[in-house]
Amino acid sequence: IGPLSPHPEPGERDDEATLRPRRLTEFVGQSRVREQLELVLEGARRRGSPPDHVLLSGPPGLGKTSLAMIIAAELGSALRVTSGPALERAGDLAAMLSNLAEGDVLFIDEIHRIARPAEEMLYLAMEDFRVDVVVGKGPGATSIPLEVAPFTLVGATTRSGALTGPLRDRFGFTAHMEFYSSGDLERVLRRSATILGVDLRPDGAVEVARRSRGTPRIANRLLRRVRDYAEVRADGAVTRDIARAALAVYDVDELGLDRLDRAVLGALVRTFGGGPVGVSTLAVAVGEEPATVEEVCEPYLVRAGMLARTPRGRVATAAAWRHLGMEPPAQAPG
Ligand code: ATP
Repeated sequence: IGPLSPHPEPGERDDEATLRPRRLTEFVGQSRVREQLELVLEGARRRGSPPDHVLLSGPPGLGKTSLAMIIAAELGSALRVTSGPALERAGDLAAMLSNLAEGDVLFIDEIHRIARPAEEMLYLAMEDFRVDVVVGKGPGATSIPLEVAPFTLVGATTRSGALTGPLRDRFGFTAHMEFYSSGDLERVLRRSATILGVDLRPDGAVEVARRSRGTPRIANRLLRRVRDYAEVRADGAVTRDIARAALAVYDVDELGLDRLDRAVLGALVRTFGGGPVGVSTLAVAVGEEPATVEEVCEPYLVRAGMLARTPRGRVATAAAWRHLGMEPPAQAPG
């Protein structure tokens, strides 16, 4: 996957740590979520008790991990981090829960991937701040109740629909993260440029923001690529022309589509006459995993108005035909 993947590349985590907003006021965009969260946190602060459990839902790279860290920082609490896939056995979760101190924030990333026994243990912990640890097997098994210090769970998920009802119901507050506007991405980029000491010009910021697929993680990554180009091939200033030339090297086009996105659209239009075609057939045609096409390419192609999902399969829109330099047929959706 190319430079436009919403998932972190290997080795990118350190750069991300440098660029992470630390407090709610530093967190750019998502004004609704910010306002809601401010109220939840301030209410808890005044009552002197831990806030409701918080579910952060939205596509990867929009700042869910950053927000979890901010919640802990704003509460002045310690943050414990784990993830759904790491909680395979209920015992893993019991160990984590019994080590919590009062007021701690427990962050579970990818919470929709938590195994069933751990999930059931979590219900009780979230509701009553206790767990039942089962010791032994078969008829001799006994269940030992264990107190858990009052804590706040922050769960993050890219697929809130995959959460079971009982788990979803136990979150007092759900924040739905949206893709960022170009204006907000420009602000993210200006902030990052200041931290990294990059000479980012206003027209350069506009150009990089436009190609960042509404995602701060991608914006920050493109900024690093563009900075390299500006320093190696020019005087270091990131202007509009430098940004364009740099991103052409990485196959990122004006709409933020990369080689794979264009291959998907190309196959849809050229091989399948604009569709409808099933996503797995499309994936085979471009030699990619269906999951990659479905989770990485498609959401953005749909959002960019290039691809429509219909009950019979994927269809190229008129804009997609034009983006590939072809005249759309009369039946192509607008
Ligand atoms: P994943 O789902 O992959 O864990 P995520 O949604 O948790 O991703 P983060 O890791 O929080 O995303 O954010 C990715 C990067 O984007 C961070 O390094 C951070 O610098 C930047 N970022 C995200 N949101 C914002 C924001 N609102 N303001 C400034 N920077 C942001």
